[in-house]
Order: sequence, then C-alpha cells, then structure tokens
Amino acid sequence: MSTPVIAPRKKRLSEGLTVTQKVFIRSRNGGATKIIREHYLRSDIPCLSKSCSQCQSIVVPDAKNELPNFVLSEDPQKLASLGKHYVVVDTNIVLLAIDLLENPDCFFDVIVPQIVLDEVRNKSYPVYTRLRTLCRDSDDKKRFIVFHNEFNEKTFVDRLPNETINDRNDRAIRKTCEWYADHLKSYGINIVLVTNDRLNREAAKKETKEENYTTRSLFKYADMLPNADEIKELIPNLDNFSDSSDILIDEKSDATFPDYYSTSRVMGGLRSGGLYQGNIQISEYNFLEGTVSLPRFSKPVLVVGQKNLNRAFNSDQVVVELLPESEWKAPSSLTLDSEHFDINDNPDAQGDDGDFTGEGTTAVVSDKQRRLLAKEAILAQKSKKIQPTAKVVSITRRSWRQYVGQITPSSVDEKINGIQNVFVILMDKCLPKIRIRTRRAQELLGKRIVISIDSWPANHKYPLGHFVRDLGDVESTEAETEALLLEHDVEYRPFSKKVLECLPSEGHDWKAPVQLDNADELAKDPLLAKRRDLRDKLICSIDPPGCVDIDDALHAKKLPNGNYEVGVHIADVTHFVKTGTALDGEGASRGTSVYLVDKRIDMLPMLLGTDLCSLKPYVDRFAFSVIWELDQDANIVNVDFMKSVIKSREAFSYEQAQLRIDDPNQTDELTLGMRALLQLSIKLKQKRLDSGALNLASPEVKVHMDSETADPGEVEIKKLLATNSLVEEFMLLANISVARKIFDAFPQTAMLRRHAAPPSTNFETLNEMLQKRKNMHISLESSKALADSLDRCVDPKDEYFNTLVRIMSTRCMMAAQYFYSGAYSYADFKHYGLAVDIYTHFTSPIRRYCDVVAHRQLAGAIGYEPLSLEHRDKHKMDMICKNINRKHRNAQFAGRASIEYYVGQVMRNNESIETGYVIKVFNNGVVVLVPKFGVEGLIRVENLTDDVEGAVFDEVEFKLTFKPKGAAKTRDVYVFQKVDVQVKSVLDPVTSKRKAELLLV
Ligand SMILES: [Zn+2]
Repeated sequence: MSTPVIAPRKKRLSEGLTVTQKVFIRSRNGGATKIIREHYLRSDIPCLSKSCSQCQSIVVPDAKNELPNFVLSEDPQKLASLGKHYVVVDTNIVLLAIDLLENPDCFFDVIVPQIVLDEVRNKSYPVYTRLRTLCRDSDDKKRFIVFHNEFNEKTFVDRLPNETINDRNDRAIRKTCEWYADHLKSYGINIVLVTNDRLNREAAKKETKEENYTTRSLFKYADMLPNADEIKELIPNLDNFSDSSDILIDEKSDATFPDYYSTSRVMGGLRSGGLYQGNIQISEYNFLEGTVSLPRFSKPVLVVGQKNLNRAFNSDQVVVELLPESEWKAPSSLTLDSEHFDINDNPDAQGDDGDFTGEGTTAVVSDKQRRLLAKEAILAQKSKKIQPTAKVVSITRRSWRQYVGQITPSSVDEKINGIQNVFVILMDKCLPKIRIRTRRAQELLGKRIVISIDSWPANHKYPLGHFVRDLGDVESTEAETEALLLEHDVEYRPFSKKVLECLPSEGHDWKAPVQLDNADELAKDPLLAKRRDLRDKLICSIDPPGCVDIDDALHAKKLPNGNYEVGVHIADVTHFVKTGTALDGEGASRGTSVYLVDKRIDMLPMLLGTDLCSLKPYVDRFAFSVIWELDQDANIVNVDFMKSVIKSREAFSYEQAQLRIDDPNQTDELTLGMRALLQLSIKLKQKRLDSGALNLASPEVKVHMDSETADPGEVEIKKLLATNSLVEEFMLLANISVARKIFDAFPQTAMLRRHAAPPSTNFETLNEMLQKRKNMHISLESSKALADSLDRCVDPKDEYFNTLVRIMSTRCMMAAQYFYSGAYSYADFKHYGLAVDIYTHFTSPIRRYCDVVAHRQLAGAIGYEPLSLEHRDKHKMDMICKNINRKHRNAQFAGRASIEYYVGQVMRNNESIETGYVIKVFNNGVVVLVPKFGVEGLIRVENLTDDVEGAVFDEVEFKLTFKPKGAAKTRDVYVFQKVDVQVKSVLDPVTSKRKAELLLV
C-alpha cells in the first residue's frame, strides 16, 4: 500500500497549533467530568464524502496504516424541502432514538460528531456500543461516519467565558454542521441537523446568517420521509407526540412522584454522608419492594412502595436517603407482581387517577388485596425484623435496555383505529408496565414485542416507551426463543464477515502437521518447535451424550515408581483465536456460549467449536496439556504445562465410560487408564470434601425432545454417574494448577475466579425456619462447618429433605465471580464453595472467554508465546472481567428460562398430581417447589380458601392457617411441609405467559 506523506501533522505541530484543553463531558448524573487533554488540531481530517475531491488528497493513514473509507454517498436521499442531504445527529437524538438510527428504512448518510460519541459513551454504554457498531460496520446501505470535530482546526471551538459545557458542546455540533454545509455546498449536498432541543435550533438560526444548514426535530424530520407513517410509529414516546415533539421536561402538573434532588444537593449529600449511592435490587416476589446494599449497613437498606422507589428500575444505580426511624419497615410478608397490578388502569390517564395515593403499597388489584395490605401493615409494625428504610432521591445510572413484553388486551380500545395509548407488560416481572403509543395496537395483540423505554416523567404513573419490532406470536418457538435471548442480552446474530475472515482458510480441511519438525510446517508456524507430540498417549474424552464441542480429554498411566502420570488436555483455542482480531473481539464480547433446551448459541464460530478445536476422537488436534505426576493418594508430586498435539482414542458419553470401567472383561490399556482416573478422582473428591468443599444442589431437570417433531417430550431430573465426577475432579485440579502458575507469572493481572463466603445475614431466614420447624441449624463459621451442618440436615422420614435444604442454601450463597489478581488481596482469592485458596477457569476455552485469557496467560508463563498487553493491563483486564461476569450470569438465566418454558410446554398435556415442598410462606400465599419438574409456583390465598380474611399468617412459625374450600376444619400449611399439589400449565390471560399453576390437594 502506498503511504501518502505524513508531513502535515508535523507541520501543524510546529506551527504551534497545540491546544491544552479542558474537555468537559456531561456525565450521567448531569454533572461534569473534567478531562484534561493536550491535543493538536489537524487540517487533514476528511469529510468522508465520496463526492468530495479535496479531502481524498489530504488523508493520512491511521495507526494500522489503513486509509479511511469514504462512506457518505454521492447521491444521498433527497427530500422535498431538504434536497439531497446528509444528517447530523446530536447526543440526545442518539440516546432517544438509537433504534431509529439502526432502522434499515430511514437515516442514511449520517455524520456523528465525535463530541456526540463521547457524550453518549458517558451517558449510556450500551447505546454507545450500538452507535459505534453502526459507524464501524457501516455498510453501503446505512453509511454512518464519525467526524473528529474536536481535532479539526476548522471545527474546534473553545469554551467561552461563562459558557456552560452543554452550551459549548452544542455549539461544537453546530460548528460541525456549518463546516460541512460550506464544504459540500458546491457538490449540491445539504446538511440537516436533527435535534429535539429547541434552543439549539434557535441558536443555529441566529448563528448562520444565510442559514447554510437546516435543523429539524426528530418528529418533523420523520414526517418528511416517504415512509413517514411507518417511521413515526417508532418515534420515542415523549408524551407530546402530536405537537412539535420538543422535550418539555419542565411541565410540572400534579406530579405523581417526588422530584429528584438537584445534582449539587446529591453531590453534597454523598460527600457529607447524608445520602448513599448503590444499585437497587427489586424483590422477585414483590415488585414494589427493593433493597440497596450499602457498605455502611450490615443489612441491605429497604425501599418500600411506589413513591419511595420513585421510578427506579431493577439494577439502576440510585442515590437514597434514609427515612426517619419511625418509618422503618420489615421486608414485606406479601407477594405482589407487576403483572396483575392495577389491571384496569387507563392508559390514557396521565398520573393521578384517584386510585394512587403514593403512600406505600396502597394501590392494588382488589379489595381483597387491600384488606391483606392492612393486615400486612399491622404485622409489619409488630415485627422484630425492622430494617433501615430509605427513599430514592436520584437515579445516577439507568439500567434501561430493550425489553420484551406484550400489550395487555384490556388496555386496547377496539373502537380506535388510529394511534392510541396502550400498556405493555414486560416479561421481567420486577418491572412496571410501560405505556406506549401505537397505531397497530390490535394487530400486535397476542404477539411478543420489543419495546424501548424513553422517559419516566414525575407526573406519569408509568414509564413511557415506544414499539420497536414484533417477534411473532406468543408461544411460537421462534418468538419465545428470541424473546428469551433478547431478555438476557445474548448476542445471537450470525458471526460477521470480518469475524469469519479470521478463520483458517483451509476450513474443515485444516489438519495438524504429521511431523512437528517438518521444515515447511515450521516455516509456516515457528511455534511448532515448542509443541510436544503426545499422540502416543491413550487419551479419551468423556462428555454428555451428543456433545460436539469437546473442550477436554484425559489420560492416565501407571509409572514404574508406582505413581501415576495423569494428563488433562484442553482444546488449543488460542492457536486459532489471536489477541486483537475481530474473532477475538467477538468472543470477548459474547463471553460464553449459551445452552438452551433446543439450541446452542456459540461463543466462537462452528468451524472452531465443533471441528478444528474440538478434541474429536481419531484425529490429530492441538491441545494445551497439564500433566501431573500423582502419588497413589492423588497428591501432586509434579506438574508440567505444554502446548501439544494429541489424538483422542475415543469420545465416551458418561454412561458409556461408566459401562466400560465397570465391565471386568475389559482389560486394555485405555480402560486401565480410565479405572486409574476413577480411583484417583474419588480420592481427590474426598480430599476436597474433607477440607470443606460444599456439595450444593439446584433443582436441575432435563427436557427430552422428541427427535422427530422437536417437541418437548418429558422432563427428567439430571442424574449423576461416578464418571461425571471423574471428569469434574480433574478439571478442578487443572484449573487450580493453572491458577497458581499464572498468578506466579502475572501477580497483578492473572485471570482468576473467586467465591466469597456468604454473610451470615443471608442465612438468617433459612436458619430461623430450620430452627423453628426442624430444630436444625446451618453453621457459617467456615465452609467446612457449613458443609458438615448441611450433612446433618436429614429428616429420616423424608429422603428429599436434605436436597431441599441444599437447594435453599444455594440461594443464600454469594455468586462466584471472575476477577484479575490485582483487584483483591490473596486472602480474598478464596473459592469458598470449592474450599481452595486460588482458582480459575481453564478447561472450557471453546465456550468460555475466561479460559481463553487463562490459556494466553499460561502460554506466556511457560515461555511459549509472549503475553499481549491486553492481558497484562489492569484496566483492560477489569473491563474483560466485568463483561464476562455479566454474560455468564445472563447465560445461566437464559438457560433456566429456556428449561422453564419447555417444562411449561411439556406440562400442557400432562395435568398431574405431584409431590411438592413449601419453601416460603407469605401473608397472601405460599410458594411450593415441585422437584419432579424443577418448577416452583405461588399458590395464592384466594385459591386456597373462600374465607381470605379468615386466613391467619404466623410469621414466627412460618405458617399459614386457613379453611380449605368446602372443608369444615382449618388446615395449617408451613415451610418445609411436603404437600400434594395439582400441577397444570396455564396461559395467563393478562401476561400471555405460560406457567405452572399449582393447587393444594
Ligand atoms: Zn471533503
């Protein structure tokens, strides 16, 4: 590639055009972040318009020695009053209408000023990523570019005395428009600034004498488009849709919610200690109750009721103020879901509709509920469980994303054919319903739809949002699967061309070299010289049946000294996935593969995952091997790490492996090796348990699919064989050995995984239940004490009871997390559940990104290949860890949701009576877990008795007493009780969600 002269940059420097500039970025909470940047202004920043001949000659290559792409069309969209034009957007438009910008049917040739990109990044990272993707992957169709206005000497503006940062940045955007307009005038291309800020539009008019560019509000711009009707439907709901669509935030008629505190009051309060900042967690049982964990308090601070929650969404970052002690409350003994809350609300009513007093949880479904609440209030005052209680006074970071839901039929007026307000119930029951305006209300009934939230003004009882797209009919597999993936933020689109271009060009024909010392092969890959040939080892893999992405394989061999050589061989993914490539970026961003009942969403393209990396039998594969010498008691004598080439002799399922080991007629060396592995794994497991490893449980079930119809057939509880635990023990051992090695080599940035000890408050309720009902206790002094006390929770009359306690304990534990070693002191590296001092994930690089990083660090540690800066930089490692923690959690939730959906489908045709266990007792119902299906459901008090008011809730005894329908005597239902329940699957008429409905029999 020819390199144009780079001289202009130097020239500018020598001319003294360097600017030391304080750049102020409007931050999320409205305050300003000051960044001091020294940068020099350049004259070689191109407009990137294909029609411009000037700029083609001034461009210089970037850091990667690539010339910028001229993307903007020579023949852009032409509109009646605007002519041929490019669009410039401001920050607000991006934040409000990113869906519209992404829409394939509008917004072409868009210029995003760099200051806008910077501001968007500060206000919403998810929107920023989407905008960046739009600009980076911009195809010939959409044509988005970033213009570096802050570095261009023609468009840079200094902040004026007394000018606010907002005003300065707005002026910078206008300056960009002006420059573009002048620059492209002779090519017949106009500039349109789309902004909803009226002041900005007025300023633009004032500044430009001859109005050399045009400004339009989003609504007015959309109105001019040929497909205006369709597009206007998708415009964010700002509640003044029909007028000029200016944002009129200051309209303060009859506020329903308290105003948020001003930025300065929040800042002052946080400094002086009167206010606290944290993330709010909305209760899964009561959507009007949240908690905020704050370092200052041993228990999370409670936030109860609509008014105190003050428009906070689950996991928003909020600022809270404590209420006076007289108003402190106990966590609710009532369950309340958003789905059935105020079903009859009128979507056209704005705020106060007479039913809303704003006082705690007073607005409820029915009179019955109202009476229950009164009872609850009396109970709460008597309760000893009073907790510090607070109200939300500011929201510093919104967690808003796209949501999936469905329109509530009762909110649709069938007589209206045009636009109307309707409610959308979200799939996430911790969230309130959303009001949207749409003209397609009737057509969208019975569909899963994607919506975006736009705002929640103080005078509105519900947040305002807008329709984005529909996913298809409720309960169609396609719609439900996509809904589930969207709800859990799983990236499921096909891999991009750029990503696929990183794959080996041989495709499925790729082969490991026959001879590692072959000169031709060495010339292609000099690192081959450091690879060990292990093709003579009798290696096999053991996995669930049908596994195609085989991450790991093992071997064992008795040594002459009586010890054992044991090898764990892991797919050498990083041979194919190199740091910094598009493929690596995609893997890092996905973070993990996601396993649904009928589908797998891969972290890496299939070619690698199920073929080139997969340690399939009978073929040569590259691996990263850990080889130990273990003595007969499974103590480590020696450990060695190496990149290798292996040839697996067999791919077993757990069951096949078990049969082979158990068959006395088999005496070949492979089988002998497997038997040795089994014996050693039993010893390893015993050692872990002795040192306090926990044996927890979750109600895991497997859904069998009919292979012909792909319909779910039956549900089965997962059973574990000794061979499951064989593989698990050696994977744990490999992970531990690798963790130590990479921590030695990279003490500040090693990729590790920790699991914190649970705070004793997490177990308070469970322990009270156990104490009261069973006279048992779970000890929290150490993981060993916890493990032992779990072993003692046995009810001789009920075999399942111990598993039940383990399931309930699992829910009291902390989540394990990925971290880099510099983030914690060594004592805090501990993995509580496994009872080891240091741990990582190394054994599944095909489906987890943590393992990819661990592989690279291990390769660095053994001198195979230098480690890139990417994984030696604390800040970068922090970003990686944060992302994979989030993705890992989401993947788990998505997997569970998929099982739940299919279990619902199975139960559709199988109404039955099953054994259940009461795991929670509320004032207005009980929660029952049905182990056979792994489902749990709330049985409401209304469904238990006709005499709702006669029901008595005893919070000390965890007991609900009521007179069953048609019975003469009362019945007690209490926690841990084994009960028979009728299980049937029902489609909720309000939410169109299918779920298990349980009834006591
Ligand atoms: Zn140009």
